[in-house]
Amino acid sequence: MSAVRAPLAGKTRTCPHCKATILESAAICPACQHHLRFDKGAEERARPDAVPLRVEGLIRQPSNAPMAEYSVVVTIRNAEGEEIARKVVGVGALRPDEERSFTLSVELFKVSGLAPR
Ligand SMILES: [Zn+2]
Repeated sequence: MSAVRAPLAGKTRTCPHCKATILESAAICPACQHHLRFDKGAEERARPDAVPLRVEGLIRQPSNAPMAEYSVVVTIRNAEGEEIARKVVGVGALRPDEERSFTLSVELFKVSGLAPR
């Protein structure tokens, strides 16, 4: 029997360091990467059990193009196509010949708690 009570699947809390909304079960904040739990096994639980989606891409503003602004928007939809989350995770500008790379990953963690209804 574990000394750590299993959290409810999908339950969230606010990271005390960066104020991002994260899973209550997180041992390391996925946003600021501060350690949040130091109990036995916390380090191991911080590693995802699977990364079923990871997309990386790079954009470069052509040298002969004008300066441009960008917004990075992430949308999550359920099986019915209804939008359940939409966040702007970053904005910025690109000068001619400048580039930015972007990575989106979905990390899965096994849980033993009950799913909320
Ligand atoms: Zn954080």
